[in-house]
Amino acid sequence: MLKIAVIGSGTMGNGIAHVFAQHDHQVSLIDTNEKALEKALATISKNLDRQLSKGVIQAEEKESVLANITTHTELADGVQNADIVVEAATEDTKLKLDIFRQLDQHCPKNTILATNTSSISITKIAAATNRPEQVIGMHFMNPVPVMPLVEVIKGYKTSEETTHQIMSVAKGLEKAPVAVNDYPGFVANRILMPMINEAIYSLYEGVAGVQEIDTVMKLGMAHPMGPLQLADFIGLDVCLSILNVLHEGLGNPKYAPCPLLVNMVEAGNKGIKSGEGFYLHTHGSKELIVSERFNK
Ligand code: NAD
Repeated sequence: MLKIAVIGSGTMGNGIAHVFAQHDHQVSLIDTNEKALEKALATISKNLDRQLSKGVIQAEEKESVLANITTHTELADGVQNADIVVEAATEDTKLKLDIFRQLDQHCPKNTILATNTSSISITKIAAATNRPEQVIGMHFMNPVPVMPLVEVIKGYKTSEETTHQIMSVAKGLEKAPVAVNDYPGFVANRILMPMINEAIYSLYEGVAGVQEIDTVMKLGMAHPMGPLQLADFIGLDVCLSILNVLHEGLGNPKYAPCPLLVNMVEAGNKGIKSGEGFYLHTHGSKELIVSERFNK
């Protein structure tokens, strides 16, 4: 059993806390926002109920998973005995560099500092600490309890020992870890985001409509979700920010975000989180209804 500190209890943090606690690790879940911690515990409980109804866990396991999680609003309280920290706070470079400076100060010398960042350089985050060889990317996929992949990202100075430990911990969570090097977008987003951007360009240039584009990829390529539906699920603001990282970091115009994506984000149409993106998400059913704007 390891002592794990998870920083940030939003969409990803609550899922990461859930899977570690479910595999008998002791989890300190830390968030500066008390309400976010309450919401995270409620979400974990609801997701455990779903696993119970599907027979993934037994009734007595639910209480033991919840008992493995404590919550904290002060970083220093939650990390002082941690073997591994997994940072899953808001995707903001300045914020993450500040958190890693604090982690370096408050964690024991041997603690591994992992980040779940989707796009920020692991090497840059590591350079904010005095232990860059113990800093690594541990990129879980959303929803964390369901998706098997963990992209393990080796920064420029990450040691083999740290990589080996994180690969083995991820396997212990019944995940499938894949080790990659630290370049913009790593592997997952370097391949996924240009596909989503190309789908948006196809819509923007009038090649086909929302439903047609998504149907081609679902029925023709066996994708469980079309790229436009997936973009709404991820958040169009998140897609835009990752494309900007690829564009700036690799300097190749092929990564330039589609002007339609930029407009949609600026107008506040960010997908599920705002109620509307390529589809409408305010009607309360699982039916896919294309946004009025694209339905003419
Ligand atoms: P989110 O907005 O749902 O949650 C972020 C949480 O961090 C919030 O609860 C916020 O209160 C908290 N936070 C902010 N500053 C903090 C601080 N100083 N200390 C502690 N907590 C703090 O975000 P998310 O979608 O869970 O994303 C978290 C990280 O995971 C990001 O780096 C993101 O790029 C990455 N990620 C997200 C997804 C996804 O699909 N959402 C997938 C893979 C990776």
